[in-house]
Amino acid sequence: KKIFIPTPLDERIELPKDVTHHVLHVFRHNMEKPITVTGSDNRCGIYQITDEVDGIAQAKLIEYVASDVSSYRTILVQSLLKGEKLEWVLQKATELNVDTIYLVSTANCVAKYDDKKLQSKVSRWEKIMLEAAQQCGRNQLPTLVVGETLSQVLAIEADALKLVAYENEDGHTIKSALQSVHTNQTITDILICVGPEGGYQEKEINAIIESGGKSVSLGNTILRAETAAIGSLAMIQYELEL
Ligand code: SAM
Repeated sequence: KKIFIPTPLDERIELPKDVTHHVLHVFRHNMEKPITVTGSDNRCGIYQITDEVDGIAQAKLIEYVASDVSSYRTILVQSLLKGEKLEWVLQKATELNVDTIYLVSTANCVAKYDDKKLQSKVSRWEKIMLEAAQQCGRNQLPTLVVGETLSQVLAIEADALKLVAYENEDGHTIKSALQSVHTNQTITDILICVGPEGGYQEKEINAIIESGGKSVSLGNTILRAETAAIGSLAMIQYELEL
């Protein structure tokens, strides 16, 4: 079982009450079996639970292990989608080992969140990602970033190979766009932008291309935004042999 705790790892750790409950009482983890824990310092260790005191599991380090981070960093820049669709993308993208997810508001977004609503949603979204990571056996959580604009994200991730999924593209595919990655060892970060239900406006596509990005087709059919997000991440993984 893989577990995340919000504090750095040490020789002895305590699992927070909700995590203890989840591990020992929901999953009925056998206390004699070791657990894999990742701390807020991103270290990863194998621990033996020794006791449960007032609903808090006490655990002792067996050994530190390497975390399962890949040599490439994959970044999803997803335009905000309505309710469940966005939650589905966060869950599935976590399963597909995405490293960072930026949620951005673009011109045709139907989902409108003001800053206050956005912040109140973040803890729910982080919980969905945490549960997905625990369920699929990941030992690192993706980083979720909200509140940046598309152009700010492009500037923050200036060194990444930038792709934008665009249904009107009829040349490049993810396969052709990633060809350079195999010969250029300086590229480690792959970023894919996926538009909202109503798609991107042409000026947004142009802005991504002007920042050095490439538009890519995901095939001849127009996919729903959530299918495009998960499909493109799976294609990137396949091409990078992750
Ligand atoms: N503009 C369209 C519209 O409103 O009819 C479609 C938008 S599509 C539902 C949502 C997003 O999925 C797009 O912005 C794009 O990023 C991505 N997408 C969907 N189908 C695609 C395809 N065949 N190739 C590349 N991207 C696609």
